Amino acid sequence: MIGLEKFENLISLVSYFKDNDACKQFLKEQRWGDDVVCPYCGHHHCYTRSNGQFRCPNCLNNFSVLVGTVFENTKISLVKWFSAMYLISSHKKGVSSHQLAKDISVTQKTAWYILHKIRSLYNQENSIELSEDVECDEAYIGGSEKNKHESKKTEGTQGRSLKTKTPVFGMAQRNGKVVAMKTKDNKSRTLMPIIKQFVKEGSRIYTDEYIGYRSLVESEYSHSVVNHGAKQFVDGDSHTNTIEGFWAQLKRSIFGIYHFVSAAYLQRYVDEAVFRYNSRKQSESERFQSMFKRSIGIFRYADVKNVG
Ligand SMILES: [Zn+2]
Repeated sequence: MIGLEKFENLISLVSYFKDNDACKQFLKEQRWGDDVVCPYCGHHHCYTRSNGQFRCPNCLNNFSVLVGTVFENTKISLVKWFSAMYLISSHKKGVSSHQLAKDISVTQKTAWYILHKIRSLYNQENSIELSEDVECDEAYIGGSEKNKHESKKTEGTQGRSLKTKTPVFGMAQRNGKVVAMKTKDNKSRTLMPIIKQFVKEGSRIYTDEYIGYRSLVESEYSHSVVNHGAKQFVDGDSHTNTIEGFWAQLKRSIFGIYHFVSAAYLQRYVDEAVFRYNSRKQSESERFQSMFKRSIGIFRYADVKNVG
C-alpha cells in the first residue's frame, strides 16, 4: 500500500493515479484496508462483487467505495478530484474557481462546485483548547464600503456597519492555533461564551479596548488591553499582532483570490483560512494527507450532503 507522503508534488500524484480504477483502489486501501465496513449499518467483512462494488451480508445493501465520502455520486473523474485537492492544499492562499478550472480542465461552474465540496471538509475541531497567551479580536467581512458606488454606501458607518458586514470573531494563541467563526453580532453576551468554550481558564487574554470585552476584567482570565486609540500598537507583550496577522491572511484570500464572499458561505472561507493557518508549519504533502483523510470519512456526513 502506497503512503500519502509519497506525493511530494502534482507530477508524482498524477503519474500514480493514472485512471479512476487506480483512485478507487487507493480509496479502498486508505478507508478500509482488507476489512470493508458497510457505510449503512457498520457491519464488517463485506464482500467484494465482480463489478468492483461491495455487498453487506447484514443489511444486503450494495455500495461503492465512494458512498459516504465527499466523492459520492460524482460525475467528475477522481483523478481531477485528487489533483484539485492537491492544488487546493498546496497553495497557501487558496485557489480561485477560475484558476482551478484551467488547472484541471473543467468548467468554472464545476471548479466552483469542487471548491465548495472541499471547503466543507475544513470544519474546525470544536474541541480545541487555546491557553497561555491568547489574543481575541473581531473582523468585519462583507461588501467593501470603499469600493461601493456612492449611492449604495451605508451612511455614517465608516465601514463598520453590521448592516453591510458580517462579524467574525477570532482567538489566536501566540505561537499556536487559531479558532475563528462567524457570529450574529459583536455583543459581549455573544463573545464571552465563545471565549469560555475555547480558552482555558487562567489564560491571559489580549484584546483592544472595545466595550464588548469589559466583562473579562471580572472573569477567570487575566486581561490585557491594547490601546489602539493612543497608537500604542506594540507595548511589550501587550499587542494583538497574532490575530491581526490571521485577519490579514483571511482578507487577502477573500478579496485577493475569491473577490467576493456571500455571508451564507462566509463560515466555509473562515474554516479554510483557519485550516491553512493551523497547518502553516506542515509540508504540502502533510496538508494533502490531512485533507485526504477528511475526504474519506473523518467528517460528519450531514455537512457534506448540504453543499450546494
Ligand atoms: Zn450493512
